[in-house]
Amino acid sequence: MTTENVYQRLGVEEVINAAGTKTRIGGSLIRPEAADAMREAANGFAEISELQARASELIRDVTGAEAGYVTSGASAGLTMAAAACIAGDDPEKMRQLPSTDGIPDRIVVPRSHRSSYDHAYRVAGATIADVGANDHRLGTGAENTKLWEIDAAIDEETVAVGYMQKPSTDPPLAEVVEVAHRHDVPVIVDAAAELPPVENLRRFVDAGADLVAFSGGKAIRGPQTTGILAGRKDLIRSTALQHLDMHEHRAIWDPPAGLIDSDAVDGIPGQGVGRGMKVSKEELVGLITALDLFVEEDFAASSRKWRAQAEGIVDDVDSLDCVSTRVDGGDVATVVVTVDGAAAPASATDVVRRLRTGSPPIFVGSDDIERDQFTINPMCLADGEADVLVDRLYEILS
Ligand SMILES: *Cc1c(COP(=O)(O)O)cnc(C)c1O
Repeated sequence: MTTENVYQRLGVEEVINAAGTKTRIGGSLIRPEAADAMREAANGFAEISELQARASELIRDVTGAEAGYVTSGASAGLTMAAAACIAGDDPEKMRQLPSTDGIPDRIVVPRSHRSSYDHAYRVAGATIADVGANDHRLGTGAENTKLWEIDAAIDEETVAVGYMQKPSTDPPLAEVVEVAHRHDVPVIVDAAAELPPVENLRRFVDAGADLVAFSGGKAIRGPQTTGILAGRKDLIRSTALQHLDMHEHRAIWDPPAGLIDSDAVDGIPGQGVGRGMKVSKEELVGLITALDLFVEEDFAASSRKWRAQAEGIVDDVDSLDCVSTRVDGGDVATVVVTVDGAAAPASATDVVRRLRTGSPPIFVGSDDIERDQFTINPMCLADGEADVLVDRLYEILS
């Protein structure tokens, strides 16, 4: 007798994830200890604000920031960061968002840092102001966005500078911070996918960022719908005030002092712009458990394991003449497969499509299919799944 798993019972096909932590196929595998903790948390109640205060201490300790907060993902973290930078401690502004009539709402973002994740800022009511001209893409030797351009773009209406952290982004964060702070404007960093290495938990705070957003559901391997925001205490307080359930009577309102200094605010703001992005007690407990384990993890060992897996895949597909392979990437080794369009029976696009539509569906990295390449990321592969993938590649490509 075979027992069906939950995906089979629902009639939804389970997929093999060789693409890394992609939200559209469920992100990463939650740590078993985090899933267990969530089940345990589901058996009782706790004040969400107390759990957030506890999480704040942990985030403070592991990032070196003044405070932290658990959001429903890095994207929600950016929305809350924008809301905090716009409203500060003003309950009237909190009430007004996402309408920003009459209040400053500009977030200055270097043009080369823009992405559709900027939508997260706009959800809170922010207006994005582009800086720079992307001249570095012309191949004429021109630089990317310059510091003076950022400096000149910051005006009276500017509430923050938005910075997208990627290995390739410039100008360097510390220099952007210096310019922004000269105008008393905070810097928000989208570092959603910049873990591992674990050192990056501190790196952007150390560089002076005022709020940094990470995904909880990528390498931290917490619940998919969590993220962390680490940064300045006053901005985290504003985040909490605009995110927590705020239907409370002033006479009995007693928020945890470590998270919300109630003397700093004139009144209880009511349900804020973040109310629709709430985080449950189970998710909070799951994220705290996962983050604790993430900082303890032996990443050098995980890195070696992923590299060995990647090299194993390269060896296994070696006898396919129509592809060339190499192992790329730093902490997470990735196999880059280039399909020789003339010799192969299928293009890279065909391969990606047929892997997805076969049974079980297999997802590989497809960012470079236009250059006849796909990638295999071992991070989310379970035991034996690499073999299934290799067999399918032989079926499609021999
Ligand atoms: C994944 C990602 C996000 C969104 O993170 P979630 O935790 O899924 O909300 C935002 N920005 C970047 C650069 C990302 O890679």
